[in-house]
Amino acid sequence: MSILLSGCWPAAEQQQWLRLLQEALPGEQWWLAPPSDASEAAQVELAIVANPEAGVLQGLPNLRLIQSLWAGVDRLMQDPTLPPEVPLARMVDPAMNEAMVHTALWAVLALHRGFFEVQTQQHQGLWRQPQQLRAGEWRVLVLGLGELGGRVAQGLATQGYAVSGWSRRPADLIDVQTLHGEAGLVQGLDAADSVINLLPLTEQTRDFFNAARFAAMKRGASLVNLARGAHVVEEDLLAALDSGQLSRAVLDVFRQEPLPSSNPFWRHPRVTVLPHCAAQTDARSAAAVVRANVLALRAGQPLAHLVQRQQGY
Ligand code: NAP
Repeated sequence: MSILLSGCWPAAEQQQWLRLLQEALPGEQWWLAPPSDASEAAQVELAIVANPEAGVLQGLPNLRLIQSLWAGVDRLMQDPTLPPEVPLARMVDPAMNEAMVHTALWAVLALHRGFFEVQTQQHQGLWRQPQQLRAGEWRVLVLGLGELGGRVAQGLATQGYAVSGWSRRPADLIDVQTLHGEAGLVQGLDAADSVINLLPLTEQTRDFFNAARFAAMKRGASLVNLARGAHVVEEDLLAALDSGQLSRAVLDVFRQEPLPSSNPFWRHPRVTVLPHCAAQTDARSAAAVVRANVLALRAGQPLAHLVQRQQGY
């Protein structure tokens, strides 16, 4: 099989992916840029991509699968030249899922126990013990109950937190209060001490966290955004923090990345900035995920983790 591997990444990262993918799929022909020769381009059946340059997937008439190495495909789907009829699979990597659960647990634990404030107090030389609530007295709302959100909700419930989760369709998760629809959202936002965003970025969810949504949250609640920067209207978040409507924000993702040095989030006393590191694809386990989908393609079996293009995720 002739395979195109394309992404916006440093050369060293590309080489690491190539090595692991070649080990997982030995004996294939690999291209790191689309072949310029039409007959060679006609042989490319698989594109393995990591947010490639727009237009890279044009002119491959026999492409049978586009396999993303990243979980979110919002940027990829903005490419107007993305072949509409070719199945698009996103990455669901067990190691990345686990890392996301760890990040969410860290954030919720620090919020619930007041450890972010304690860290600030250290810089001020202040000795002040925070109130100690039980985990069951801290309600967390997880927005999005997919591969990541579902696991995060379940992981928090296992630690004893009171967990609610909101998704597009009704869901059923052990020890998690599941909500859907606008009424479910209002109910969930009103009750949550911490809200974790793990929605995909789609037309429906862009600018999701705006002034109205912050006003619908419980006063003094916190936001943990682990999904996409464009979910949040940054000026509205700053206003909600400055008015005390929100007590803190833990932000892993931003409208512009890397976060410009002029962005006020860097210096805001109640914002924790993470450099988009909540959960990264682990090339070692992801190569096995790609291999499984390639074997399914060859065998004519159903492909895993296909994106529903009309829904945008
Ligand atoms: P997923 O499996 O596709 O799950 C998406 C969830 O969101 C589903 O539960 C879906 O509801 C729900 N949803 C979608 N649109 C909705 C809407 N309009 N209203 C209510 N619920 C809606 O996605 P995932 O793998 O969990 O990943 C989620 C996102 O995390 C990715 O798209 C990516 O942007 C982000 N991410 C961030 C990092 C990081 O390091 N910060 C790493 C990986 C991924 P249904 O269940 O009803 O379909």
